[in-house]
Amino acid sequence: MAVDPTAPYDPENIFAKILRGEIPCNKVYEDGHALAFHDINPQADVHILVIPKGAYVSWDDFSEHASDQEIAGFVRAVGNVARENGLVVRGYRLLGNVGRNGGQEVPHLHVHLFGGGPLGPMLAR
Ligand code: 5GP
Repeated sequence: MAVDPTAPYDPENIFAKILRGEIPCNKVYEDGHALAFHDINPQADVHILVIPKGAYVSWDDFSEHASDQEIAGFVRAVGNVARENGLVVRGYRLLGNVGRNGGQEVPHLHVHLFGGGPLGPMLAR
């Protein structure tokens, strides 16, 4: 079901459960601000999700309400994940879906990190 990016945070969402260790994930990175793990249904050779540790529904919520420290920490974590997974030289793509038009399904902010080969056109037509 599409996420309402203006709705209150639901602590029972699947990524909140992963953060609490209630559901397993294939972790590739963790620091004080972020957790990254492989997407369960990969859309590219490399498809990693990076999520902030704070309770934010969407990019909209995060960019409005997160502290400067949380925002800086998350952005740095995304860069670290790409570097640590050897994606920088050949390149990669970041994607953040917000709400219904964006196709967001999980109501905890996440950035998709795609790589491992040419990724094709920016949007399917
Ligand atoms: P969205 O459409 O919200 O931007 O993307 C949600 C992503 O989360 C999808 O790519 C989906 O495959 C992934 N996903 C959903 N549930 C799980 C899960 O339990 N574990 C992992 N690793 N990925 C999940």
